[in-house]
Amino acid sequence: EPDPTLRPDELPEDIDRAMRPSALDDFIGQAGARANLKVFIESAKKRGQAMDHTLFYGPPGLGKTTLAQIMSKELGVNFRMTSGPVLAKAGDLAAILTNLEERDVLFIDEIHRLNPVVEEVLYPALEDFELDLVIGEGPAARTVRIDLQPFTLVGATTRLGLLTTPLRDRFGIPTRLEFYSVDELCQIVERGAGLMGIPTSADGAREIARRARGTPRIAGRLLRRVVDFAVVEGDGTIDQKMADSALTRLNVDDLGLDSADRRYLRLLAENYGGGPVGVETIAAALSESRDAIEEVIEPFLLQQGLIQRTPRGRMLAAKAWAHLGLSAPKPAPQ
Ligand code: ADP
Repeated sequence: EPDPTLRPDELPEDIDRAMRPSALDDFIGQAGARANLKVFIESAKKRGQAMDHTLFYGPPGLGKTTLAQIMSKELGVNFRMTSGPVLAKAGDLAAILTNLEERDVLFIDEIHRLNPVVEEVLYPALEDFELDLVIGEGPAARTVRIDLQPFTLVGATTRLGLLTTPLRDRFGIPTRLEFYSVDELCQIVERGAGLMGIPTSADGAREIARRARGTPRIAGRLLRRVVDFAVVEGDGTIDQKMADSALTRLNVDDLGLDSADRRYLRLLAENYGGGPVGVETIAAALSESRDAIEEVIEPFLLQQGLIQRTPRGRMLAAKAWAHLGLSAPKPAPQ
């Protein structure tokens, strides 16, 4: 029975953490990556060795951090987490590395943003589990070599292309994460709604899944907002109609595009006749960083076939013109 007195602010605080799957078998989607990881985890355990260094790459919110945590749980080791921009000095990384226990998982998010000096320290650590530290300054400076416990580095990046080649080459298990299918997102939404105790019809869950931009993090966020509307303005349950009206009020359109996506498409259509337009021009016109455009907005638009990347810039595809309700300009006469 739905509890009509439940208010949005009374929902469990840590629902986000609760929604994070903690075992590989509970992780929905990414079937190919999951099957491989299962073998590599099993093998490392059987051999009693640290698992090979693993790199997860793909758009934000697809489960890179979640998979890294699952790896440490399945391997039965500690999970340590940091991120590229946080490691300012070589000593910051050294402090973390020297505190690792045997076979621990060290997760470095945004690993493409490592300071080059820090990256240099990482190479021998990854290769030989050794650390070369410079002690002192000037003529008195000397190098000491410190042995590290064997560990597993799990790197995550939204931009594989920004990783230096030597760093990339040190990952034995590079793994690309893909956008999720509607069916997979549907399972994620149903599981989340179950954890929140909100009765949800199959078509209600599907409506949220369909409009979640192929991304579990967005599915979770949309679910929580739809729950807010259902609890305050509805009867505390989610059906297709409730999901649709809530998502429409959240400016999430029928394809799952949000206002930033639509601004991007409209800019190309209305200001540039559909392109081609360079990414720098787009970033300046939208007052967004180039990184945000390339990491967050474009991957889904590309995957949906709404835009194309050409050597001369981004172009609007026929599907985008139709979605905007505009007609594409006639090609110039030859
Ligand atoms: P990333 O590190 O790629 O940005 P996260 O691992 O932080 O993504 O995941 C974002 C959110 O989506 C988390 O709240 C996580 O619980 C959820 N999530 C990611 N993948 C799945 C999945 N396969 N099943 C269920 N929830 C998922």
